[in-house]
Amino acid sequence: MTQSGPRAVVCGAGGFIGGHLVKHLLARGVRVIRAVDIKPLGDWFQIADGVENISLDLKESHNCLIATRDAEHVYQLAADMGGMGFIENNKALCMLNVLTSTNMLVAAQKAGSKRFFYASSACVYNSQKQTRPDVIALKESDAYPALPEDGYGWEKLFSERMCHHFEEEFGLICRVARYHNVYGPHGTWTGSREKAPAAICRKVCTAKKSGVHEIDIWGDGKQTRSFMFVDDCITGTEKIMNSDISTPINLGSSELVTINQLVDIAEDIADIRLKRTYNLNAPKGVNGRNSDNSLILDRLGWQPSIRLRDGLEKTYRWIERQMVEEVTKQDLGLLEALPI
Ligand code: NAD
Repeated sequence: MTQSGPRAVVCGAGGFIGGHLVKHLLARGVRVIRAVDIKPLGDWFQIADGVENISLDLKESHNCLIATRDAEHVYQLAADMGGMGFIENNKALCMLNVLTSTNMLVAAQKAGSKRFFYASSACVYNSQKQTRPDVIALKESDAYPALPEDGYGWEKLFSERMCHHFEEEFGLICRVARYHNVYGPHGTWTGSREKAPAAICRKVCTAKKSGVHEIDIWGDGKQTRSFMFVDDCITGTEKIMNSDISTPINLGSSELVTINQLVDIAEDIADIRLKRTYNLNAPKGVNGRNSDNSLILDRLGWQPSIRLRDGLEKTYRWIERQMVEEVTKQDLGLLEALPI
């Protein structure tokens, strides 16, 4: 497809959402000139052809200048992050993302970029508004008074405000989406940074293959969440970037489920029933969280709509294939034993 429009750069492109975003933008005919990630290229989840793919640590300001050279649109998704198990135990590392976000904003402004997209998170929301599983969906104003997730959430909230003031004082148009739990193929599914949907698919798949029909669940299984399939996330990201929405906006599904219901769906997909044990000492995050989509519906006439059952089926099948490939590599002596 002929590429046209603003020259775009995607940071965090070696990761889950960034990798999908690069491919989506290219397929839409956007001129993606560069994809950047700290990881060596061999570790990227997806790599697109026809793009300058480079490995740079964006915590360093001089690397941000390289990343943003000639960029008109900057998508800033680079962050050291993971599921609850990671962010509850790595608060300082998560807060160091402020270097990446800040240096990227400064570099984008110096490069004369027109628009800057920042991937924020539902972790910015006041935790006192998420104490019950029957949560009232979070609307954008619920981020204040500020009491976000310690570490990761504070950094996201601070960087949101930095975006706001860069637009206000320096004229760099900033668009901020608060992602709510994104899942799908090509995401982290093992190794301690994975999030609930991938972890549960992996555990169900492992139980099926091993014949040990048991699963351990973090928390009591009654905590509630909404989960957004990555295709909806990418569609929403592009829409928000090109919109006139100048305040942070929710980008999440409003299909609320308990973790037990998430396990039910994964079991249905695998056609299996497992004995559940609940680990009440494991990190489990807030008791309930959902996305209020009134604002996005009002401003874009659109909201994420891919059903959890449909998205999880694709995710489960992808993880199942990854597990088969890993086992094959182990058989060939190419890999260490697979962590369960
Ligand atoms: P991911 O971990 O798969 O991708 C993030 C990428 O950023 C990784 O590939 C990582 O190597 C890269 N990175 C980290 N530090 C870097 C640095 N200093 N320089 C360059 N690259 C660096 O995560 P993801 O799920 O794709 O998330 C993308 C963005 O969306 C992140 O900012 C994340 O905080 C945000 N977000 C994600 C979710 C979700 O559910 N996945 C929810 C809310 C917000």
